[in-house]
Amino acid sequence: MPFARPFSCPRRGWYNPDMHVIFEQAEAVLFDLDGTLVETGIDFSRLRDATLQLVAEYGIDARPLQDLDALSIVERAVDALRLRGEAEAGETLRKRAFARLQAMEMAYCASPRPVPGMYDLLEVLRAQDTRIGIITRNDREVALRTLSTLQIPHDLLVSRDDVDKVKPHPQHVMVALEEWRVAPPQCVVVGDYWMDVEAGRAAGCRTVGIWRLDVPINPFRHHPPDVLVRELRELL
Ligand SMILES: [Mg+2]
Repeated sequence: MPFARPFSCPRRGWYNPDMHVIFEQAEAVLFDLDGTLVETGIDFSRLRDATLQLVAEYGIDARPLQDLDALSIVERAVDALRLRGEAEAGETLRKRAFARLQAMEMAYCASPRPVPGMYDLLEVLRAQDTRIGIITRNDREVALRTLSTLQIPHDLLVSRDDVDKVKPHPQHVMVALEEWRVAPPQCVVVGDYWMDVEAGRAAGCRTVGIWRLDVPINPFRHHPPDVLVRELRELL
């Protein structure tokens, strides 16, 4: 599908007719959580720094890992230890890293806020019997707390604890499709980062990218979604 650009409609602001087509045909919609449905204020650079610090304790050169996100740093470090014949140390590192990340995420997610239009959009999907799933790289407990605090209606949660490989790997999406027995073309994946779009695309779903108004550079420039919007409420 070609890269669709929204255009301005005088009555409704940004409006993209393509998204209505893909939502109409959808049996299920999978949403990323942070930045897509909710604002949690997670400081990803602090998560990364804390993880780099931990990895260094295991004698791993952290310099080549500095530009990666926290979860990728953990995976690369675990792989490096396995190659060194220290698989057990790798598993210990993973547990320690995940515990540290969970504590930090829990603190950041103490007061989540809904993204404008979130409740209305989910209500519309509910009314037309579309299944709603949450796919997140967050810890499961943190995600559950956020979903419960904001009373976000959903049928399924696939967190990082529910997969072996996190987004951009398509496993989050595949777990949901398998659970629901929904074919990939009948599912839409919505997210605010290229990893969401890549996970959906790799699973064979259609994708919606939200290039947030507070993000200066298009995060989807190398991974164009089927539909691009600037705000969640444009999907209404
Ligand atoms: Mg996100």
